[in-house]
Amino acid sequence: MLRSDAEGLVRKNMARFVDSEVIPRAKEIDEKGQFPMEMFREVGKMGVFGIRYPKNKGGAGGNTTLYCIICEELARGLMSLGAITAMQCLMGTNFLFHFGTDELREKYFLPAMRAEKIACFCLTEPEAGSDLGNVGTLATRTDDGYLVNGMKTWVTNGPVADFFTVLCQTDPEKKFRGLNFFFIPKETPGVSVSQPFALLGTRTTPISELAFSNVLIPHEHMLGQEGRGMNNLMTILAEIRTMTAALAIGLQRAALHDSIQYAHERAQFGKTISNYQLIQAKIANMAVDLEASHLLTYKATRMIDKKMDAIKEASMAKYFATEAACSAGDQITRIFGAYAYSMEYPAQRYYRDNRFLLYGGGTHEILLPNIARWVGL
Ligand SMILES: Cc1cc2nc3c(=O)[nH]c(=O)nc-3n(C[C@H](O)[C@H](O)[C@H](O)COP(=O)(O)OP(=O)(O)OC[C@H]3O[C@@H](n4cnc5c(N)ncnc54)[C@H](O)[C@@H]3O)c2cc1C
Repeated sequence: MLRSDAEGLVRKNMARFVDSEVIPRAKEIDEKGQFPMEMFREVGKMGVFGIRYPKNKGGAGGNTTLYCIICEELARGLMSLGAITAMQCLMGTNFLFHFGTDELREKYFLPAMRAEKIACFCLTEPEAGSDLGNVGTLATRTDDGYLVNGMKTWVTNGPVADFFTVLCQTDPEKKFRGLNFFFIPKETPGVSVSQPFALLGTRTTPISELAFSNVLIPHEHMLGQEGRGMNNLMTILAEIRTMTAALAIGLQRAALHDSIQYAHERAQFGKTISNYQLIQAKIANMAVDLEASHLLTYKATRMIDKKMDAIKEASMAKYFATEAACSAGDQITRIFGAYAYSMEYPAQRYYRDNRFLLYGGGTHEILLPNIARWVGL
């Protein structure tokens, strides 16, 4: 199949699923504020969790462009579902796939592809957010394995996950070169998971803290060659950023669609508000932002698919598309007037959910100085 055919087919199938299954249930799922297990399984049945992995190893044989199309379409229906899927396809399973033993892959990776197990990714700590060099969760090598002690926070899917990919420090003197990823199943003695946090947005994507107290894991649970943790993280950073941009595009599309529809329906002073130039300007700006976000994001995914260094393009896409999603979430609350303030309409959800995009993969205060450096400062 030609690349464009595959993209068209994936987009069409996901769009059909989102229109018929996600959008009609999005309000109810968001209000419940619980992990949408049924929907997660439905997405899993479509085979999308393996989209980035080769077919002969339990994946679906796709690429980053297809992955981002899936994230975009799901986020158009419900940002939480896009976020959960993004985690399962990439950060939650990537290190297990590449560096796990055959036994671990059989027991955890393949079931995760079938939506039978839930994955998550644990970098952040109470004292280490943007500053990952300060990660203090210690993995001490002993004859019996690694002994892990420490705490992680803001773990997406933490309350429902079956296994964790955890960034730990093995030798504080080595700083970045002492950071390594470890595979920790939830059932390991000494692992505890906090209650889910109360959240502003993406309320059905549960988040918690994790504590590790003398958690003993076998030596082969180190994911990747010792000392290469941060290098291995860098290999997926561009993909994480483009995925976030794709989620942002999904939200922009939903906000633009609903804004146009509402502008045609709502009449004031004897005409629909679509006749007023200030409303037109808001909608035109949303449309221009969306187009630019799309061009930046899929330029970056195509570079990643060609194995080119795309970190600058991916960072620009993440920055621009996220800011545009934040703006779209704001503009729709003006176009809808008071009705945006009601929980009956999805405008309030776009306004809250766009915040999800700001933090993961690097805040904009971290991205912008890097972009400035890459262009010559
Ligand atoms: C919804 C959500 C889901 C998340 N999911 C996960 C997850 O699954 N796994 C995980 O590990 N983490 C997760 N996180 C955490 C996320 O990765 C962190 O929030 C992010 O790394 C920023 O860290 P921080 O929030 O501690 O902010 P801080 O690093 O404390 O930053 C606070 C402020 O200071 C700014 N700042 C920091 N350093 C600098 C600097 N050098 N120059 C200029 N400004 C600076 C930041 O941009 C920010 O504005 C999640 C967070 C949220 C909100």
